[in-house]
Amino acid sequence: MKNTDKIKYERPIIKRLDAGIPNKFGLRTEYTPMTHIDNVSVKSLVAEFGSPLFVVSEKTIRNTYNQTKRAFTLRYPKVQFAWSYKTNYLDAVCHVFHQEGSWAEVVSGFEYDKAIANGVNGKNIIFNGPDKSESDIEKAINNDSLLHIDHLDELYMVIEMAEKTNKKPKVSIRVNMDTGIYPMWDRFGFNYETGQAWDALNKIMFSQKLELMGLHCHIGTFMLAPYAYSTAAYKLADLALAVEKKFNHNIKYIDLGGGFPSKNTLKGSFLPGNDSNPSIDEFAEAISSALINAGFHPEKLPLLILETGRALIDDAGYLISSVIANKRLSSGKRATIIDAGVNIMFTSFWYDHKVSPAQPFTHYTEDTVLYGPLCMNIDVIRENISLPLLNKGDNLVISMVGAYNMTQWMQFITLRPKIVMIDLNGKVHLIRDSETNATLTDLERVPEHLKKFDL
Ligand SMILES: *Cc1c(COP(=O)(O)O)cnc(C)c1O
Repeated sequence: MKNTDKIKYERPIIKRLDAGIPNKFGLRTEYTPMTHIDNVSVKSLVAEFGSPLFVVSEKTIRNTYNQTKRAFTLRYPKVQFAWSYKTNYLDAVCHVFHQEGSWAEVVSGFEYDKAIANGVNGKNIIFNGPDKSESDIEKAINNDSLLHIDHLDELYMVIEMAEKTNKKPKVSIRVNMDTGIYPMWDRFGFNYETGQAWDALNKIMFSQKLELMGLHCHIGTFMLAPYAYSTAAYKLADLALAVEKKFNHNIKYIDLGGGFPSKNTLKGSFLPGNDSNPSIDEFAEAISSALINAGFHPEKLPLLILETGRALIDDAGYLISSVIANKRLSSGKRATIIDAGVNIMFTSFWYDHKVSPAQPFTHYTEDTVLYGPLCMNIDVIRENISLPLLNKGDNLVISMVGAYNMTQWMQFITLRPKIVMIDLNGKVHLIRDSETNATLTDLERVPEHLKKFDL
């Protein structure tokens, strides 16, 4: 600041003491402005690409991936990651993961085709989910993809398709089980405790038409208990060893799915997620110990597959937004309206996202409710956040938005904005353009008799 610059006036206020504000860590999100993302200035990004704007850091994806991979390979000799497409299926993002050696994990025909179009070899695609059509299954069998069977109807369909295609489909079953975490996700796959999973494995082995490759589970999402994964690993290992004993058949892999938490803060948490969520090493330790101690012959140790989604991409995503207006609510509380709403920030419903001003600010802060631009009462980005003075046109950076927002976002009231990726050299690439009216109206048809009106 030059000596001659006028200091910004901040009017004095009387502040209500809010009882029940979590703790001293929960009050402020930031003490310094976030003016740059990977050394690229936020203001320059807004000037070139507009606001709101999603920004993805290629460097952060690669760093997080390699740290996570290391946590597992240090503890277990055979590890393979498969990128969970639904977590973020922007092609550029998928390509970074595939360059790092990740397979693809898909849960629909649409995602399957996307993985193929991205150049992933069919045998490196894991096809999960309860909704695979006959043509999806046929395609997956012909490409030697890994079909993870969810229910008996699907199992019988795959057996029928095996006869039709004259191939031996590569299959695994999804298993659900009691891991001590409730509610239990028992709607997907075959249950362990009731014997459904063992029954399905027997049906596969006795049919002789399918090649049983592995065992899969995905016990939940944003799991905060590493012990749940050791229980899951132990139960899958138990099934694998039972198959080996009865059929003399080796299970090639055990796939523990995804669900590790990112460093985001769940709503209602006492401490920020960065401080309180278990580290990836704790999960790696729980899983690898369970598998190593399970009783596999050292030469027949199954490959450990991980379908980690949010923990690998959340921290690589940012959303830049601009202040539209400030106002006082009838309670006297400050409200700030920004140009990014819950339609593009789906995860605001679950997380207290970190929100940082993108320009210098003074020490004064005030409890603020942060609203999005939608004409909807539910459009709240943060219900209570301590923020410094912000003016119309100022920018904010919302952190850790890389998981699910860019796939679960809705085209609602506003059009979806641009997404850029900052590469390892700090070069900015447009990886998804903003939508236009034509993006939508191209899909619409107005019946002839409705075309004309007089007003
Ligand atoms: C969604 C999903 C994942 C990824 O879950 P995260 O919680 O993002 O890690 C992995 N596997 C399956 C089967 C899924 O449905």
